[in-house]
Amino acid sequence: MNFALSEDQELIRSSVAELAAKFDDHYWMEKDQAHEFPQEFYDAIAKGGWLGMTIPEEYGGHGLGITEATLLLEEVARSGAAMNGASAIHLSIFGMQPVVKHGSEEMKKETLPRIVNGDLHVCFGVTEPGAGLDTSRITTFAKREGDKYRINGRKVWISKAIESEKILLLTRTTPYDQVTKKTDGMTLFLTDLDRDHVDIRPIRKMGRNAVSSNEVFIDDLMVPVAHRVGEEGQGFKYILDGLNPERMLIAAEALGIGRVALEKAVKYGNERHVFNRPIGMNQGLQFPLADSLARLDAAELILRKATWLYDNGKPCGREANTAKYLCADAGFAAADRALQLHGGMGYSEEYHVSRYFRESRLMKIAPVSQEMILNFLGEHVLGLPRSY
Ligand SMILES: Cc1cc2nc3c(=O)[nH]c(=O)nc-3n(C[C@H](O)[C@H](O)[C@H](O)COP(=O)(O)OP(=O)(O)OC[C@H]3O[C@@H](n4cnc5c(N)ncnc54)[C@H](O)[C@@H]3O)c2cc1C
Repeated sequence: MNFALSEDQELIRSSVAELAAKFDDHYWMEKDQAHEFPQEFYDAIAKGGWLGMTIPEEYGGHGLGITEATLLLEEVARSGAAMNGASAIHLSIFGMQPVVKHGSEEMKKETLPRIVNGDLHVCFGVTEPGAGLDTSRITTFAKREGDKYRINGRKVWISKAIESEKILLLTRTTPYDQVTKKTDGMTLFLTDLDRDHVDIRPIRKMGRNAVSSNEVFIDDLMVPVAHRVGEEGQGFKYILDGLNPERMLIAAEALGIGRVALEKAVKYGNERHVFNRPIGMNQGLQFPLADSLARLDAAELILRKATWLYDNGKPCGREANTAKYLCADAGFAAADRALQLHGGMGYSEEYHVSRYFRESRLMKIAPVSQEMILNFLGEHVLGLPRSY
């Protein structure tokens, strides 16, 4: 059993940490407060060649695996950039895998090098107000008309839609009541967000405000057949391929936030004196931090196992889901405890832990809720009856 990272992986960790450290907590606080996309950070990451980490070399990327991608996103989150930083680049790092695996050669040549150099922003359009976590119930419909599709429908929560030129869009091409298997009849497109036919409205939200999440209204968007990813009707399957790596990336981001929250808590716990002693001397504060350290370390192990399994072509559903579940919980708990330790100052913006708290809360909900992870483990790993 080998727990060591390779020299290259250690180098990725340290180089990303060095780059991310150029954007301090104040930068992220200001971007968050101004609801402004962190373009300078994004450009620096692109310039460093990091956006192309998992894109195959023939399209200008490095062709690395999910292990390296999780190291990158963990370090970004851990720098204090938290979800504002991670979400700004998350989709470029691994989200184009359906295109890498199933897109046409022309589509890959046109889009992947532009992802690598940072010129192309893409968002991911799956969630719909009427469907929620039951993706089979989406109703955004793509109707074939000659060599085009006419798309109509509504998506919700689509992150970065405002900044994006294109959308990876999941649609129905056969209505729900006309398919034998409920996840059949869905088709994936990579197409332009033509503002004449797409209305994008930001949602006011609790945190991660440097990256917008939006309602997207699609009205008679005409999409060439060439913008279809893979075969008609197979879209859900293509998205499914990417679910395990997505859970691992989110786990890594949660872990990074937990780590930085813990560091901030330890610093304040040593510095702040009340009743003539550092507050960190109180076991009521110290034990929860020690407990968080243990939980973050344990969650990291299952994440490393999950990424290793995936990169070695082995089944990893159990580990990917467990990693997301445990990292999201451990990351949020660490942020909550860090906030508590800061007392009133935890509630202010000045010490940044309230930002970590708000952003780490997200991973218990999206891209998949903790409840759905337990549904997966209960049904597919334990073999209990499906509960819904
Ligand atoms: C900030 C943010 C960014 C996002 N970005 C994107 C994006 O870029 N693209 C995109 O497509 N989506 C995005 N989402 C959407 C996100 O993936 C969904 O919010 C998430 O999957 C949960 O779906 P829902 O909100 O519809 O919850 P619902 O499906 O309405 O569920 C509500 C609650 O009920 C629980 N529940 C439902 N069914 C069951 C069941 N059978 N058993 C137990 N519990 C159940 C859920 O766990 C949840 O707690 C984003 C969301 C947020 C908040």
